[in-house]
Amino acid sequence: MNANDPLPHPPMSDPGPKGDRGGRGQTLDEVSRESNVDERELAKFSALAHRWWDPTSEFRPLHEMNPVRLAHIERVAGGLQGKRVVDVGCGGGILAEAMAARGARVTGIDLAAKPLKVAMLHALESGAAIDYRLMPAEELAAKEPGAFDVVTCMELLEHVPDPARTVAACARLVRPEGHVFFATINRNPRSFLFAILGAEYVLRLLPRGTHEYARFIRPSELAAFARSAGLALEDLTGMSYNPLTRAFALAADVGVNYIAACRK
Ligand code: SAH
Repeated sequence: MNANDPLPHPPMSDPGPKGDRGGRGQTLDEVSRESNVDERELAKFSALAHRWWDPTSEFRPLHEMNPVRLAHIERVAGGLQGKRVVDVGCGGGILAEAMAARGARVTGIDLAAKPLKVAMLHALESGAAIDYRLMPAEELAAKEPGAFDVVTCMELLEHVPDPARTVAACARLVRPEGHVFFATINRNPRSFLFAILGAEYVLRLLPRGTHEYARFIRPSELAAFARSAGLALEDLTGMSYNPLTRAFALAADVGVNYIAACRK
C-alpha cells in the first residue's frame, strides 16, 4: 500500500500454507481457528473504498473484468433472471449490481464495513435492490444453507487465511445442482510476473502489496478444496489482460487470472 510495504515474496520462496501470514501477528492456524479473516486485508480495501466506483482508480481491473466475468457467469449458470444469488466478498458491489441488473435477486456480503457502505450508497443511487450484509460466509451458510441458486466469490480467496474454509462455506450456501463461481489468481512464476510485478510495479494498475504471491491458488488446489466441499468442478476459464487495449478477455490460458465454475 505504501513505500514501506515489504516486497512481495519471490516465486521460489513459497512458504506453503502454514506461514505466519495472519493479522495481528498470529500464525495462519490461529487465525483460521477463530475467524477466517485477515484484518490487514480488510484495512487495505477499506482505505480505498471511497474510490471503488471510479473506473480509473485502484479498482480499475475489477471494472474492466466485470462485463467479461458477468457474461461468463450468465452463460454457465444458464441466465440470472429471477435467481437468488449471493456475492461473497462483494466489496463495493461492482459485480453484485451488474447481476441485479440482469434480473438476479442479489445478496452481497463482505467483512469490510467501508466497502459495504459504499456498495449500499451506490445501490441507493442506481436503484438496485440488493441485500447487503456485513457477515462472514460461514455465518450466512449456517443461517441459510442451500438457499442460493448461484454463489459468486470473485477475487476473494487470495485474501483470506483459509481459502478451503471459504470454499466450504460457499458450497453450503448453494442449493443442490446450483452453481458456484470462484475467481482467483494462479501461483507460478508467470503469475508472479504479471499479477504482481506487472500489475503493481510496472503498469501500476494496483497498489503495491495488493497481492501476496504465497496466497495465490493453483487450479488443482482449488479443485481439491471444491471436491472436499462436495462441489464438482465443471469449467476452468482464464481471464487474460491486454495492457494495450486495457481489456480482459476470456481465454483458455488459466496461467494468471482464472474463474472456476463448480456445481453441487
Ligand atoms: N468480489 C468483489 C471485490 C473483490 S476485492 C469483486 O470482484 O468485484 C476483495 C474483497 O474481499 C474486499 O471487499 C474485501 O473487503 C473482501 N474480503 C477480504 N477478506 C474477506 C473475508 N474474510 N470475508 C469476506 N470478505 C473479505
